[in-house]
Amino acid sequence: MEMYSGHINKLIEELSALPGIGSKSAQRLAFHLINMPEDKVKRLAKTMVEAKENVRYCSGCYTLTDKEVCPICSNQKRNRRLIMVVENSRDLAAYEKTGKYEGVYHVLHGAISPMLGIGPSDIKLKELLQRLQEDVDEVIIATNSSLEGETTAMYISKLIKPLGVKVTRIASGVPVGGDLEYIDEVTLLRALEGRIEL
Ligand code: ZN
Repeated sequence: MEMYSGHINKLIEELSALPGIGSKSAQRLAFHLINMPEDKVKRLAKTMVEAKENVRYCSGCYTLTDKEVCPICSNQKRNRRLIMVVENSRDLAAYEKTGKYEGVYHVLHGAISPMLGIGPSDIKLKELLQRLQEDVDEVIIATNSSLEGETTAMYISKLIKPLGVKVTRIASGVPVGGDLEYIDEVTLLRALEGRIEL
């Protein structure tokens, strides 16, 4: 891509490394950024750096948050004996949007995938087991219905059922392979309410 200046090429290269951004989108974004007022570009860059520096895992549920404990875990009205296990913070947000779930969450930050070389120790499973040392009535497994999500669900179920904790799986009304974040609230609620014991 010798037709652009070195700086533009570098910017296009960095942008196209982002998920979902192909080389055409990267070029469009790069030229958009170049044409933006300088103060706006600086504000965007600062926001990105500040988010990276200040966002961390909640010490309770491991979702991404600005504080030591996230707003959900620090809410006294939430039922701490009910834990919903999700793959990532976006899935948590999808369930939170329904406004109907009163328990707390546990964010795995991934799913087991032998094909991609992601094993149980690469996700926050050990942390989930630690949480089960407190009194927990039910663990709802709400991983995706993809192969990885199902593998993870079975693994978790085998791991925690011997502990005498009730383990349920959200109903399979959720489209196969569908990312939870793209599913509407009614479908999510139906999946939650129709959960079955494993
Ligand atoms: Zn939390």
